[in-house]
Amino acid sequence: MKTQKQKLKILLAAPALLAALVFCAGAANAAGTKQYEGKNYTVIYPASGFDDKLQDFNVEISSIIPFVESYGAIKFDHIKINVLSNSKQLGIYTADSLIEQMTINIPAQYYNAEAVYHEFCHLAQYHLSLPAWFAESHAEVCVRRYYEHLKAADAVKEHDDFYAQNQKKYENVQSRIPEDLPKVNKFPDDVSIKSFADEYFMMKAITNVAPMAKILPKLREDFDVTTLKGPHRYDIISNDNIICDVNAVTSKDVFSIFQKYGFKIPDCSAKPKPAPEPVPAAPNAAASAANSSDTSTGILISLTGILAVVLLSLMIFGIFKLIKFALARFRK
Ligand SMILES: [Zn+2]
Repeated sequence: MKTQKQKLKILLAAPALLAALVFCAGAANAAGTKQYEGKNYTVIYPASGFDDKLQDFNVEISSIIPFVESYGAIKFDHIKINVLSNSKQLGIYTADSLIEQMTINIPAQYYNAEAVYHEFCHLAQYHLSLPAWFAESHAEVCVRRYYEHLKAADAVKEHDDFYAQNQKKYENVQSRIPEDLPKVNKFPDDVSIKSFADEYFMMKAITNVAPMAKILPKLREDFDVTTLKGPHRYDIISNDNIICDVNAVTSKDVFSIFQKYGFKIPDCSAKPKPAPEPVPAAPNAAASAANSSDTSTGILISLTGILAVVLLSLMIFGIFKLIKFALARFRK
């Protein structure tokens, strides 16, 4: 179990999470590692000092994976877990997850800490580009539900208490959840902490009436980053679209929950705006060049055909004339 200070470190780092994920992508494993192949995961761990912890770590992983699959209605093909000998590559983060690459980076010292569950919970966001308020509160509420699943009442209470204490400590500070988006959030610490606390209770209330196992598939149906569907394509899914999709998967009232935490409720009956035309990417440009090349070839073939027909006609005309001339001479 992590200390509160460690937990706060994760949370304070959260607003820049997506940006950090991009920058961390492609980070190479340090030399001197060993590999363990699990059923649907691989652990790459330091060659020295981790062997005695590997078994416990595998027990944790084998328990959290099926939970998250069920919680987020997703099936994981294969997850890569990099156990790091130090946290240098993580910068200010305790741990991180590269969601599209199904990869988790976790320092060896946190192999049995809550950070493991938090990062696995993030993997349920596969193919979705979500605002920080959604991603972080989802991961933290998912951890809480996992403790419930384990019937770990003390851990559930500690989790709730941590956020309740922050809510109380900053009760006079106004949270700014709808603005808690990566790259945008430059909140002072007290606003950040209050926002994280409010987000947690908001997401808890939302998932009480709209299960995440329905919300995430609905968002993937409408805003999957790989299908180019929806008005947002590669951008972060807007607050309005999230509210409407959450509302779409439940008959219970979710608008009042969002409203309570400062969101404006959109008109969900309005038709979504059509997707803007995509900017042609390099492969498309290549395809387009190939097409135009095909067109030129086609024109060339057509011209050659016309020329052949003309030449053939001239030849037939010439032969006809020659025969006529020969016959005329013969008759003479
Ligand atoms: Zn997180």
